[in-house]
Amino acid sequence: MQLPLGASSILARGPFIKMEKSMPETDQEWKKKLTPEQFHILREKGTEPAFTGKYYKNKEKGTYVCAGCGAELFSSDTKFYSGTGWPSFYAPLSEESIEEKKDFSYGRKEVLCKKCQGHLGHVFNDGPKPTGLRYCMNSAALGFRKGK
Ligand code: FE
Repeated sequence: MQLPLGASSILARGPFIKMEKSMPETDQEWKKKLTPEQFHILREKGTEPAFTGKYYKNKEKGTYVCAGCGAELFSSDTKFYSGTGWPSFYAPLSEESIEEKKDFSYGRKEVLCKKCQGHLGHVFNDGPKPTGLRYCMNSAALGFRKGK
């Protein structure tokens, strides 16, 4: 059977081939991709100082994405001004986009990007309606895409 050019070499490598451009895996690989601040927050669970990030005051319409892998995480539609100095949302874009882990502190959970497992911030139970949740995120863990 005649295969299209290139197809035979892909088939020859078997079912374990990664078709997608692979995600960084080691700290060294992440350091090449991220700024030192992004690395500290996303990969070492750091927190940026309040009122210093680029998005806590942002009121533009658009989508917030993961600074690590580009996954879509939050919509400006659920963003609210919390007064905390960190960008805050009452809901994620989708339950599929984030992961929540029990934290050592009472009343909060750690929030991670499901796709790259980057640390984004925390979720608290003192948010506004309709969910009563406050996703308190680090600006440096996010990117922003204007528009819908
Ligand atoms: Fe990510």
